[in-house]
Amino acid sequence: MRKLLRVRMDSLSVSSDDLPEAWRCLGGRALTSTIVAAEVPAACHPLSAHNKVVIAPGLLSGTVAPCSGRISVGTKGPLTGTIKESNAGGIGAQAMGRLGLAAIVLEGAPADKNARYALHINAEGAELREAFELKGKGNYDTVAALHEACGDKVACISIGPAGELCLPTASVAVTDIDGRPTRHAGRGGTGAVVGSKGIKAIVLDPAGCDRPASHDAEGLKAASKRFAKQLQEHAVTGQALPMFGTNVLANLVNAAGAYPTRNFSDGVFEGVDAISGEAQRENVLARNGTPRHPCHPGCVIGCSSIYPDENGGFLSKGPEYETVWAHGANCGIDDLDAIAHMDRAEDDIGVDTIEMGATFGVAMEGGLLEFGDHEGVLRLLEEVRQGTPLGRILGSGAVVTGKCFGVSRIPCVKGQAMPAYDPRAIKGIGVTYATSTMGADHTAGYTIAQNVLAVGGSVDPLKPDGQAALSAALQQATAGIDSAGLCLFVAFCVLDVPDAGQNMLDMINAHIGTEWSPDDYAEVLCKATLRTERDFNRRAGFTAADDRLPSFFATEPLPPHDAVFDVTDEDLDSVHAGL
Ligand code: SF4
Repeated sequence: MRKLLRVRMDSLSVSSDDLPEAWRCLGGRALTSTIVAAEVPAACHPLSAHNKVVIAPGLLSGTVAPCSGRISVGTKGPLTGTIKESNAGGIGAQAMGRLGLAAIVLEGAPADKNARYALHINAEGAELREAFELKGKGNYDTVAALHEACGDKVACISIGPAGELCLPTASVAVTDIDGRPTRHAGRGGTGAVVGSKGIKAIVLDPAGCDRPASHDAEGLKAASKRFAKQLQEHAVTGQALPMFGTNVLANLVNAAGAYPTRNFSDGVFEGVDAISGEAQRENVLARNGTPRHPCHPGCVIGCSSIYPDENGGFLSKGPEYETVWAHGANCGIDDLDAIAHMDRAEDDIGVDTIEMGATFGVAMEGGLLEFGDHEGVLRLLEEVRQGTPLGRILGSGAVVTGKCFGVSRIPCVKGQAMPAYDPRAIKGIGVTYATSTMGADHTAGYTIAQNVLAVGGSVDPLKPDGQAALSAALQQATAGIDSAGLCLFVAFCVLDVPDAGQNMLDMINAHIGTEWSPDDYAEVLCKATLRTERDFNRRAGFTAADDRLPSFFATEPLPPHDAVFDVTDEDLDSVHAGL
């Protein structure tokens, strides 16, 4: 029986119980959202003692299933005010799986706001330890100190200075396969809620623990083998992502005229060649970096890389497509090395790279910086780290920054900044931004697959027709993948290859002992999760009026297609009608 670990920060106590039977078949996002919706008052302030943080590995995490190392962090999000689930790769989920943990629930708040604690978990149990010496440290120094004290095999989950400052852009970092804090549950400010609980880090030591027991180990192994083969043979998961990483998308999205440039004022960036995935790979190879790097054992795709500095030393993990875009085209910056420095700084400070890049784009439009001023961005990031008044404004995200600098064009939905696809030129993703339970979030229903890549079908990105149905189907599919603990990139294969979806379901059934049909799976992990999240948001005060894009997307044509976002309100309101 998997365990539910409760950490009560008001009494500084820890208890472990069996996961309730009603939640036995839930994992990852399905479990975090279910617990948050059941236990957190929807109207509470996200930084109050009433909020909780639920950290859960996916159903398959820790098993032999390929790419199953995602870890979900759920809470009421400080950036959005909605329910929030943000997931990350790294080695934390597999460590939790081996430790037999279904979820860790952080609740209450410590009496001493200046105290810092680290939660240590191993095969013997769990304990809270004072960790004042970690106060104010960046994620890199935090993890180095924990490795020094606990050995370098442990998995670490941590927050940086931004989380301690309770800034709404704060992320939760998870160590990668090399023990670096490079994988982040970035979106929505989950790190701020962890910080409000006084927790600086969680140390997971699965030494002596086997993989989680499977109902049908041989069946899981066989389905995993079939699924891994399909991933390795697919053009996106077997070739494009391993070769160029996620930033392979830069040239593709730019060519589609949908690469948001200088705070969403153009769809084409003249400097894209210098920051593309192809250029990134050339830099990595020329400096003897690692062009392909999995973020956890068992990932057969390996979309990440190690990006060296000019002397060949480690600078950062290869910045993801979203990170490169947010600080590149969106800020008018065409310098990959500068962007890698920003990525490193943001991983260390512990902030969401998408929200921060969007925030700097808004700040540039507001006159705080010139577009293209990469030195200014790096300087201001240090203000975020230090918690200066300006740093706190920027660290509060694009909406707050836009208000402070008199900007009317703020590309956010439900308080959260849009990622790297302009919704006027890729209308399906605009539907997802508008109607996701999480605020603007590309991963919630990644229509780029059909709108741009023609994977799993093709829907014209410039026409409003069919976008609502596309987004609806993908939002449901994503909730299931997030709950299984699978990397979202497996969706390229699942959507495209006959039997891949069945193999994914076979892995789940074999591991947890269910006999789910595709409809059963869709009901329990996909639709029910979205219903739960939408009900929480309704109780928190959100209505259909919040499922809309900012008005400038409907009135300001985007070059080069001169497109506006013209999906009707009726279509937007239809997205979740089938739940
Ligand atoms: S494909 Fe990339 S993000 Fe997904 S698990 Fe592998 S390395 Fe991590």
